[in-house]
Amino acid sequence: MKPIMFVRPADTRAAIAAATTCGACFHGGGTTLVDLMRLEVMTPSTLVDLGRLPLTEIERHGNGLRIGAMARNADVASHALVVERYPLLAEAIAAGASQQIRNMATVGGNLLQRTRCPYFRDPGVACNKRAPGAGCSALDGFTRSHAILGTSASCIATHPSDMCVALVALDAIVHTRNADRARAIPIGELHTLPGDHPEVENVLEPGELITHVELPAAKFGRQVSYVKVRDRAAFAFALASAAVGLDVADGRIRGARIALGGVATKPWRAVEAEQVLVGQPPDRPAFERAAAAALVDPRPRRDNAFKVGLAQRTIVRALELASGVS
Ligand code: SF4
Repeated sequence: MKPIMFVRPADTRAAIAAATTCGACFHGGGTTLVDLMRLEVMTPSTLVDLGRLPLTEIERHGNGLRIGAMARNADVASHALVVERYPLLAEAIAAGASQQIRNMATVGGNLLQRTRCPYFRDPGVACNKRAPGAGCSALDGFTRSHAILGTSASCIATHPSDMCVALVALDAIVHTRNADRARAIPIGELHTLPGDHPEVENVLEPGELITHVELPAAKFGRQVSYVKVRDRAAFAFALASAAVGLDVADGRIRGARIALGGVATKPWRAVEAEQVLVGQPPDRPAFERAAAAALVDPRPRRDNAFKVGLAQRTIVRALELASGVS
């Protein structure tokens, strides 16, 4: 392994400047990055450690919430404001990884978490995401964990985050900064589809730092639910997950949010399913119609066709739990 320079800037400006060095990489909690460095999947020349930056706040912001990019996942999930006002986010974070990893992982790192596709993590096989133009070993490989939505002929890897699925349902805004400007990016626009360039995973530019996440005023109260289906109860990635929120008044659904994980190449909002629910009573037939509309043009492979039905059942269950109908 080549020697790696490690820098520990004291402020955001210095961190951004250090990250513009060729081959430099931000280092938050390291829970994905260090793994991938050990596997020699990622080989940064410089690690820009963000541990000294004052980006750990979890605080009220107008009627919403502001969460610093270096806030630890465990601290977010257990924070009183999150538990009380954004229980969907608390549930989704608690469903991810293990307590040890949640103690280290940061919000910024979770947003940029890389896929768990086993071929991506094996430098001995072809992967367009790791080596653009090399080919995709998954296409004719074992695809049980892979995506059925948002795929391309170049990549079918899922986005692995649970937290991001909840953030999509909550309409989070991701705030960034580079040397020239600050940006506010709706979370639905942060991650990109693989298309012909699966090595590009988001709209961030080199050296652009996520500073914090903003949540607008909570809309759904406690009528929310995060359901994650996986192969074992802990430390496993979703085969399918659903984050849902319902706004119900006078026995009718006025508004809904449905976001999916484990089935798509980015955290996925099921807009068509949300539209089906509006104006309906919150009951199982309406939930089943919404679930049937949720997966537009799925592209299953040999080993993951089961995800179509699994995702639909996961949506129905999450809606039942959110609404209290069971
Ligand atoms: Fe690589 Fe994507 Fe293919 Fe996995 S699915 S091998 S990440 S190109």
